[in-house]
Amino acid sequence: MKILIVGTGYVGTTTGLIFCEMGHQVTGLDLDETKIKALEAGKLHFYEPGLEDLLIKHIAAKNISFTKKTKKAVKENDVIFICVGTPQGTDGSADLTFVKNVAESIGKNMDNYKVIVTKSTVPVGTAELVTKWISESQKDKIPFDVVSNPEFLREGSAVLDALNPDRIVIGTTSEKARGIMRDLYKDFHCPIVETNPRASEMIKYAANSFLALKISYINELARLCNRLQINVNDVSKAIGLDHRIGPHFLNAGLGYGGSCFPKDVSALIQIARQIGRPMSILESAAKVNKEQTDYFIEKIKQALGGNLQSKTIAVLGVAFKANTDDTREAPSLVIIKQLLEEKVNLRVHDPIVKLASGQFPTVAETVTGADAVVLCTDWDDYKTLDWASLKPLMNQSYIFDGRNMIDKSLVESLGFNYLGVANH
Ligand code: NAD
Repeated sequence: MKILIVGTGYVGTTTGLIFCEMGHQVTGLDLDETKIKALEAGKLHFYEPGLEDLLIKHIAAKNISFTKKTKKAVKENDVIFICVGTPQGTDGSADLTFVKNVAESIGKNMDNYKVIVTKSTVPVGTAELVTKWISESQKDKIPFDVVSNPEFLREGSAVLDALNPDRIVIGTTSEKARGIMRDLYKDFHCPIVETNPRASEMIKYAANSFLALKISYINELARLCNRLQINVNDVSKAIGLDHRIGPHFLNAGLGYGGSCFPKDVSALIQIARQIGRPMSILESAAKVNKEQTDYFIEKIKQALGGNLQSKTIAVLGVAFKANTDDTREAPSLVIIKQLLEEKVNLRVHDPIVKLASGQFPTVAETVTGADAVVLCTDWDDYKTLDWASLKPLMNQSYIFDGRNMIDKSLVESLGFNYLGVANH
């Protein structure tokens, strides 16, 4: 099957290459010429483990090509996946501008039957809007079907996730489109949930919001544990062993970030408010998440005597989580902003994220002369740091572990003052 992927970002590039692995012919379309040029040259314009190898493999095998030319790409392909961004709008709901632009360009340029698949995360009712936008842009009435097929991959493990999904959701009212989608996914060994577009769109928001709830639950519990001098890690480990609860998304830390959870929770909150059925549980989860970085900054201030001005602080980790270069809505950015407002001398390190300076300082360079280290991202590199050799480089030996990821007793035995998130 000839597949067009519109939007060659994290989701689009991964989806396209996974379809190549399944034997399909793929074209990647993006309006951003630098991204297209990089991809054509076998270079990813973002960091995702294992994905560049697939890119090189499928370019060499001529299974994938990239283009900026919408008209030709739409005409030549049978199934069109919309993988563009759906950022948070000013009122908190999802901004569908990019999706609308794509739908209109499909309508203008299609000259035979197409299946148009929305992989972007979109509000309930978007399939109906996409249908309307395409119809209104067509010169002649050419048949098409719209399918909702949300994506559940995680940055940092996108290749594995997309190759081995927990489930595939196909939302359509068209038998013909359902058959084509089944065929497209026939080599995947996971449950396929077939439903209508509205339920499919809701499934994606419901899943991300539930995971965000879990994170906010453990973070608020951590604040309580902190006051009660209880180690929240022991609590999350024990409750996570209950198979009804499960161990994932139960690590107390700086709160959720990234390009999905904050905007998807916000979008579902807006959907609920707009129809007069506010979801107070989600509104609370979002509030708890916002407060979590304030809580941690407060802990840092208290530990360092209340005033951070002129203190030298080394922030380790900018990415919103390990194994990605994505910094969208990263808690580290909130921490960095607040530290700068406190007028600290700031040092920043990340193994992958390119800093504004364009430099990649080492951890040793970053912590030299620092009064404190603040760990913001759970990179493996930071779990295995040689703290004994870093300590003599520092001015004062405070470690603030925003991810509860390093061995407290080890660093305390080396003479560090350690503070995690209710990690007593
Ligand atoms: P992204 O910003 O990395 O990529 C989007 C791409 O679309 C960009 O390269 C942009 O240039 C391109 N684009 C915008 N308008 C276009 C147009 N008219 N024609 C062609 N290309 C256009 O975004 P992403 O992280 O890949 O996310 C895409 C969607 O998938 C979002 O709705 C997101 O919520 C959802 N999603 C993301 C993830 C994730 O982990 N990143 C996971 C699941 C779902």
